Amino acid sequence: MHGREDPTSVHVSDVGLEGSDYFSWTGSFPRCDAGDVTTTPAPSGPRRAPGSAGAGVRQPATGLHSHDRVGGQRALPRPSRPRAAPAADATPTGAGAVVDTLVLGRRVRHLRTARGMTLDDLGRAIGRAPSQVSMLENGHREPKLSLLSQVADALGVPLGDLLSSEPPTRRAALEVELERAQRGPLFASLGVPQVKVGKSLPSDALEALVALQDQVQRLLTENAATPEEARRANADLRARMRAQDNYFPELEEHARALLDAVGHHGGPLSQRATAEIAAHLGFTLHYVADLPHSTRTVTDLAHGRIYLPQAGSAHTDSRSPLLQAVASHVLGHTEPADYADFLRQRVEANYLAAALMIPEASAVEFLTEAKAERRLSVEDLRDTYAVPYETAAHRFTNLATRHLQVPVHFMKVHEGGTLHKAYENDGVVFPSDPLGAIEGQPVCRQWTARVVFTLDDRFSPYYQYTDTSSGTFWCTSRVQGSSQGAFSVSVGTPFAHVRWFRGRETTERSASRCPEASCCREAPPTLASRWEDQAFPSARPHASLLAALPVGVFPGVDQTEVYEFLERHAPARPQA
Ligand SMILES: [Zn+2]
Repeated sequence: MHGREDPTSVHVSDVGLEGSDYFSWTGSFPRCDAGDVTTTPAPSGPRRAPGSAGAGVRQPATGLHSHDRVGGQRALPRPSRPRAAPAADATPTGAGAVVDTLVLGRRVRHLRTARGMTLDDLGRAIGRAPSQVSMLENGHREPKLSLLSQVADALGVPLGDLLSSEPPTRRAALEVELERAQRGPLFASLGVPQVKVGKSLPSDALEALVALQDQVQRLLTENAATPEEARRANADLRARMRAQDNYFPELEEHARALLDAVGHHGGPLSQRATAEIAAHLGFTLHYVADLPHSTRTVTDLAHGRIYLPQAGSAHTDSRSPLLQAVASHVLGHTEPADYADFLRQRVEANYLAAALMIPEASAVEFLTEAKAERRLSVEDLRDTYAVPYETAAHRFTNLATRHLQVPVHFMKVHEGGTLHKAYENDGVVFPSDPLGAIEGQPVCRQWTARVVFTLDDRFSPYYQYTDTSSGTFWCTSRVQGSSQGAFSVSVGTPFAHVRWFRGRETTERSASRCPEASCCREAPPTLASRWEDQAFPSARPHASLLAALPVGVFPGVDQTEVYEFLERHAPARPQA
């Protein structure tokens, strides 16, 4: 959020997809760039509205807000990106504040000319050459506090007037913005010649240049979210999750602290306990009928309110949206800088929400006992914590390797046969395109994740051994509905580890020779010879969302709708 003074005070969670998405969203992941794990604290809310004097707004009662990231790092890496307005030309003053030298210079010039002083006049008054005054006014100079005091004296204003962060005029504000842009990475990368920002530049030209650079910045940001970019980011993050066995200690720590605060230590997390967590963080809950269509929840950070739908979707756990909103707050998520940042936030929030519903300590105890008795089961984990199957499956992958020494894989596959998202650290080889992206790829018809769709019984767990080119795997799979059609959710492990699982005695077995085309991608010869050249199917638009990545600050979210909604529901504004 560099370069912006006032990050939005709104959190928008999710955009209408069902389920808990640890692994991707529209098949995309934040890019992994460990070199840029930032420790910059993000502004935290809820913030007190000016003049509200705290009435009705409880401040966070926990230390667990954005300034206190465990370990001082984000749980997931933040992608590197060009930043607007590098602060390199700002100088710490004696007061420890960071002064924007561009704004400072404009203020000095404004005050000087208002007093009818020339550069010479001011230079003489402070015992400096006129060129040095000019440097100061152009923001090229990093003034010492002692010099600023002299300048303030010479201009007859308090020092604070010089240090104000407000440009003195609209024209000055535009000049500052253009100067800043010209010194920033965008101009550098485009190789655009610079214009001299001075009196000779007409105001309308100045307006146009500033608007143009804003638009270019916006277009580039949108372009960053191309499917290619998203796929690459996804592959990178999957590699990082694999390296961490999909276990993130910082997020577990956040969950532990929150659950301790409300005295919850095991078993299903009740609706009441969920609400207590929100209250503990200073939020009141408001169930509304007119939540913006593109959102699951909206958080008003200014007033400490979380807006939730009155009726949950049939496919979701009603606790999830609230917990994800709470998680975003606890993790200090602010307006995403770009698409990858948005995805990183989403993965973090979903992980933390699940860690609240299935606490690490009690779940590990439960799973360790199950392993000792050779009856590990995702179903049992689901039932013990009263969570959706997909949540239990995801959570199992978080804990299985780190705590049970069992490598695993996870897949979510659309009924059309395409891979929606997946994770593995057990050596299974997912179908992939030449660049290593797996989203939208066809899954072998012989795999458990596909075979399960052919069964009449969709309520009992299905188990199967599958021989693949990378070894024999055992898998358990279930089908679940969603507004985008049915999906199978599968968890599997290599043959060597199946002895810990319930369902290992299954006699279901199949062999996959994919990616050999003759395995399942080519039609059987008899059928082919009968129908070749006689069929012309019309393709259905792909269920995968890869083709249409939404754009915008919160991708897929209609910001106007969100702001109108907040206006409608916000407490009456106190008279200023
Ligand atoms: Zn196959």
